[in-house]
Amino acid sequence: MPFLTAILTPPQPYNNLSINMTTLWHTRWKKENETDFASLNTMIPCGSQSLIERQFQSAYTHAKFAEVQIEFRSKMNCIIQNCVVEGDACIYEVMEETMNNHHSHESIFKVNYNRNTNDFNCKCLLFEFRGIICRHSLVVLAQERQ
Ligand SMILES: [Zn+2]
Repeated sequence: MPFLTAILTPPQPYNNLSINMTTLWHTRWKKENETDFASLNTMIPCGSQSLIERQFQSAYTHAKFAEVQIEFRSKMNCIIQNCVVEGDACIYEVMEETMNNHHSHESIFKVNYNRNTNDFNCKCLLFEFRGIICRHSLVVLAQERQ
């Protein structure tokens, strides 16, 4: 039973709703266990030679790693336009080119990187919302490795 169908069924007595929610959670738990099992026993190949990507490959589930791989592939649309360094603090401006309805669009993302602590954040907030490192930060980290 699809997730929303289970929730959007007509009003039912409390007992039926409780049983439906128990069934729903059991189904989701079972699916998560199957996903975890597959992630632990098989491996999606890396698309690059990056050590960072290999770390994500071993730490994340297949679904989360697939999201990370999208970010690695999307690095090719990003270039560093500017970098301001003040002590250990670096502020990078990363330009990303995207296509929307056959029109090119450029966006600038500021990535803050601290060379002393290796802390970084990006204004796109992908890590804060999805728990994966964004393409803009990956470009900066690759630059800082040199
Ligand atoms: Zn970003």
